[in-house]
Amino acid sequence: MDTRTSADWHAAAATLAFDGRCLIGGQRRASLGGETFAKTSPVDGRLLGLVARGQAADVDLAVQQARAAFERGDWAGQPPAARKKVLQAWAALILQHQDELALLETLDMGKPIQYSRSVDVPATARCIAWYGEAIDKLYDEVAPTGPHALALVTREPVGVVGVIVPWNYPMIMAAWKLGPALAAGNSVVLKPSEKSPATALRLAELALQAGLPEGVLHVVPGYGHEAGAALALHPDVDAVGFTGSTRVGRRMLAYAAESNLKRVYNELGGKSAFVVFDDAPDLARAARTAAGCVFFNQGESCNAPTRVLVQRPVLDGFLATLQAEAAHWQPGDPLAPETRMGALVDRAQLDTVLGYVAKGLAEGGALACGGEQARAETGGFYVRPTVFTGVANHQTVAREEIFGPVLCLIPFDDEAEAIRFANDSPYGLQASVWSGGLDRAHRVSRALKAGTVHVNQYDEDDITVPFGGVKQSGNGRDKSLHAFDKYTELKTTWLRIEA
Ligand code: NAD
Repeated sequence: MDTRTSADWHAAAATLAFDGRCLIGGQRRASLGGETFAKTSPVDGRLLGLVARGQAADVDLAVQQARAAFERGDWAGQPPAARKKVLQAWAALILQHQDELALLETLDMGKPIQYSRSVDVPATARCIAWYGEAIDKLYDEVAPTGPHALALVTREPVGVVGVIVPWNYPMIMAAWKLGPALAAGNSVVLKPSEKSPATALRLAELALQAGLPEGVLHVVPGYGHEAGAALALHPDVDAVGFTGSTRVGRRMLAYAAESNLKRVYNELGGKSAFVVFDDAPDLARAARTAAGCVFFNQGESCNAPTRVLVQRPVLDGFLATLQAEAAHWQPGDPLAPETRMGALVDRAQLDTVLGYVAKGLAEGGALACGGEQARAETGGFYVRPTVFTGVANHQTVAREEIFGPVLCLIPFDDEAEAIRFANDSPYGLQASVWSGGLDRAHRVSRALKAGTVHVNQYDEDDITVPFGGVKQSGNGRDKSLHAFDKYTELKTTWLRIEA
């Protein structure tokens, strides 16, 4: 059990090393142009350090080295069992650095230390270990052709993969792509979010320490429109694994079209529906789950079920439990071990969330709780858990992704209306249905247009299942063995057999 106090974590934070330089070719280095930007913490506005402002030249250097390592077979040429050993050693190092990585993550993007430590670091390590463990258990195919030829269908690494990730789960989002991409033998250039570059850089250092050859994984921090665009436009990058907003996901497809038609796998935004029927087996648990899944990570979760659709007869009781549960998610000091809700990632995100609250009120919505900034005196960016009522499904706050702790409670009358509301969204990441009726649960879960549908729960998750969306939530699938599809190409080899 972790017995550290908030004073212990603050003391550790005061002496924590922060190195924002690029990691290219196994070396920490300034960006070639020497430019940097200041990274402050959303916890209290403190300066964490300077971060290299990577540009096209830095990306180009990283891609060249990644390509050279790939063509030499430094990594791709190693037997799967050897790659597995390195990935497992890397996962073990991640766990050994659990406190350091958790603290960096919390200071960088504001999430509570208890979750950085108990969720983000272990999930990252498990993901890397899982793909390492998988890679020497995947067999290729022999096609069932005739006796005069042999057709082999094999998987080959695509080559150089560009990975561009957001700031809400910086380590986990990186790991979901690095795990399968590296296990399959690719070289990778990673561009973390400018809002949360710290742990990506440390993870890559630990990978080197674990034995990953130097040219295989590079990290170029910087802004999206500079380093990110340069990576996605690079003519020698074979595939891009992108997680981020739908707006930037569109750019990814355009970059590919404008450059070399590289494969683009987009994992984008969401506005997931949480559908509660009046025959749900445990309405209180449903309300607590909805609150927990929206307010966890300060609401900065792509799959947060921010549209909670509740059948009218049970609406009032459901709302009362939601309000009571929201009280347990009040923002606190992210370095205090008991804190459940931390800081939003920066002032811009705070302004975005408060701007949506104002818009929701202007469109006739009412606040059942929250809707205001908290802890402003700390210099950090905190918002109270917020529940909107009186919002129609077509209104702005129910339609657009807010990416903050804002839940919209929307009543419905019958099953057909619930399905219509749930599917009336540009997004299709996740959904859930709460009902005690087996037939209804099946019917509705089949009708919901989403990459994942939960029945009578929402928070189950595991590396073994695919994660991704339909419609404007993206086209790729992270996690599970299916993620290998993104980072490998199928090759057919025909061999003639003489009679
Ligand atoms: P974002 O799209 O603004 O940025 C994501 C990444 O893209 C960052 O590294 C950023 O620097 C880079 N980027 C920004 N503009 C770019 C450009 N013009 N060219 C190239 N790169 C560019 O998203 P964000 O604000 O960092 O993250 C929040 C979004 O991520 C939300 O929409 C959320 O739903 C989504 N998300 C999706 C998933 C998923 O698995 N579907 C998971 C987590 C987050």
